[in-house]
Amino acid sequence: MKAFEKNIRKVEPYVPGEQPRQTVIKLNTNENPYPPAPGVRRVLKGMDTDRFRLYPDPAAGDLVAALAGYYGVGEDQVFVGVGSDDVLSMCFLTFFNSEKPILFPDITYSFYKVWADLYRIPYECCPLDEDFCIVKEDYFRENGGIIFPNPNAPTGLYLELSEVEGIIGRNRDVIVIVDEAYVDFAGRSALELIEKYDNLIVVQTFSKARSLAGMRIGYAISNPLLIRYLNDAKYSFNSYTMSQAAIACGVEAVKDKAYFEEGIRKIIKTREWAKGELKRLGFSCLDSKANFIFATHPKYDVKKMFEVLKDKARIYVRYWGGERIEQYIRITVGAKEDMDALLGFLEGYLPAMERAEDLSD
Ligand SMILES: *Cc1c(COP(=O)(O)O)cnc(C)c1O
Repeated sequence: MKAFEKNIRKVEPYVPGEQPRQTVIKLNTNENPYPPAPGVRRVLKGMDTDRFRLYPDPAAGDLVAALAGYYGVGEDQVFVGVGSDDVLSMCFLTFFNSEKPILFPDITYSFYKVWADLYRIPYECCPLDEDFCIVKEDYFRENGGIIFPNPNAPTGLYLELSEVEGIIGRNRDVIVIVDEAYVDFAGRSALELIEKYDNLIVVQTFSKARSLAGMRIGYAISNPLLIRYLNDAKYSFNSYTMSQAAIACGVEAVKDKAYFEEGIRKIIKTREWAKGELKRLGFSCLDSKANFIFATHPKYDVKKMFEVLKDKARIYVRYWGGERIEQYIRITVGAKEDMDALLGFLEGYLPAMERAEDLSD
């Protein structure tokens, strides 16, 4: 080992889902199967590219104003960033500086552990119960902050707002972050509680329900004080985080409420239908309220199924392995045709899996 290596910050990075270059049926990273709002294309086509020589607005004021208007909050209550990963990372850096451990579920978005390690934040994981549910009482103890997704990932299970409020209310001395990447597919948002609890931050993204994963747009909504602290950290890191194009696309997406709601409706419909079809094939699925389904099969090894789907059918789903979830795959709810392809392949393949010893050939 070189002498300088001992001073290198070493981290075990987050492993993103694959982004294959060839065309495949992509049900592995919870992207939206539908295009973004039509206004997004219009605004990009009409962009004055001469302006690209200038830096973007560091405050992304147009996007902040659009979101503030949409949610009926003040512009000083909105923070925007390069995807919610950027926003969440900034939140970890800004708010989790206690000696006490932060708390998050043991089975959850795997980035939390990575940021905690990166920023050297102590953490403890609260185990989900045997039904993969968050147990709110686990969060009623001394801690340096709390974060959880609602719905949780990769389970898709939604925690009722009263339970979420229970966690926030019992932790008034620390910051509680609710990561609502999938809430638009689920139910009531913790945004309802923003005025009531000054320790609450709600983080959402344009990557899932708004079909803009490729543009990298995320945001946090909270009270002006916490948003100010977030901006102070951001301006100490990189002032120009969002591109002119991302800001303009984000504004257009927010404008088109009807398109947004229609897209969500279609995905929920496909999700509920697909859950039924998977059950018909013998799968057992958690009752996901997100745009993905976490499923297991009592008879077949899902890791093999994951590999077979990828190699034989070019259908990508997500598999992690690891304690308690080694027999689960996560399937993004795609367009109806994508789900038909998946289900059709499985229907043909499952009986063969039963017979075959070696499934890989
Ligand atoms: C997808 C996702 C995010 C991050 O999405 P961005 O594309 O960075 O906005 C954050 N949290 C959870 C739980 C997610 O699933």
